[in-house]
Amino acid sequence: MSSLEGIAREVRRCRRCRLGYIRKNAVPGAGPSRAKMFFVGEAPGRDEDTSGRPFVGQSGKILTAILKSARVRREDAFITSVNKCRPPGNRRPRADEVATCRPYLMRQIDLVRPRVIVALGLHSLYALTTFRGSMSKARKYQFVYHGIPLIATYHPAAVLYNRPVRATIRKDIALAAQIARTTKPREGGIDPVPGIPFRKRVSSGGVPWDGGSKFLLIRRMDEGLWGIPKGGVEEGETLEQTALRELKEEAGLKGKTVCPIKRIRYRFYESESEMNFDKTVCYFLVRVRRGKVKLERGFEDYRWCTYEEACRILHYTNDRSVMRAARMAVRRLS
Ligand code: SF4
Repeated sequence: MSSLEGIAREVRRCRRCRLGYIRKNAVPGAGPSRAKMFFVGEAPGRDEDTSGRPFVGQSGKILTAILKSARVRREDAFITSVNKCRPPGNRRPRADEVATCRPYLMRQIDLVRPRVIVALGLHSLYALTTFRGSMSKARKYQFVYHGIPLIATYHPAAVLYNRPVRATIRKDIALAAQIARTTKPREGGIDPVPGIPFRKRVSSGGVPWDGGSKFLLIRRMDEGLWGIPKGGVEEGETLEQTALRELKEEAGLKGKTVCPIKRIRYRFYESESEMNFDKTVCYFLVRVRRGKVKLERGFEDYRWCTYEEACRILHYTNDRSVMRAARMAVRRLS
């Protein structure tokens, strides 16, 4: 079935794991089919089991209050959980129960295509990513699930035992709301439109490398996404010169190109200009000294990352493949 209501009907009939035999009501989730924010809890509790609605008990009241203080309208968000049926005695869902139920969640995310996902609690995060670690560590990263930014925060129930956590959850939800507001919608029609001629575009970028194990990433303010400094090649510039200029302009750092590492070519349609583009981006490994980073307007943060950290927070598949090429180049040099 290919609609949210279709999935909800399947969930209500489901007996694929033992929880289906002991629940009162399955809780598929609720919210608009075009929600920009998508919240994922762990599993229904007693009140949810009784009502068939997500987050209506004590945790739900806390979540609603936090959403309000972060200026997010609850009715605008899609709210669900990894497991759709209540585990007895509020125990954690077991690994096999998570694995059996997770496809429903994945299909819901695929249909809604939100601009941001918020994982409420570690176990929701574990169900959607390969990350394994503490929440305090997880909060340092911006994860990506199938190209969608994912923010991890504490489960609202944590406030019942530790009141100061409320401010942390609020801060994380406010960040997610900012991402939802500023991230451009993913265009379904990004493929070239037949019959429109292609215009060529060439860009160049550099992966800033400190000579050891760290690479510099910068985060754009408008999209809230991490990336690699790059930009269009200007008249009379070589590809290397563009990569170094972009690094200087975007991060205020000087560098030296070490070697070319990757060339990426892709074709797309841009609705703003109503044109098809045939774009090539050339990337270099750029050796930089870890001086003071001075971000250009339009960027809000920077981070020196290991290869693994970079791959966790980079949004685009292409950027992750560039990081792989950078790591291979560094290995060849050592
Ligand atoms: S928890 Fe999920 S897989 Fe298990 S019975 Fe409920 S809906 Fe089905």
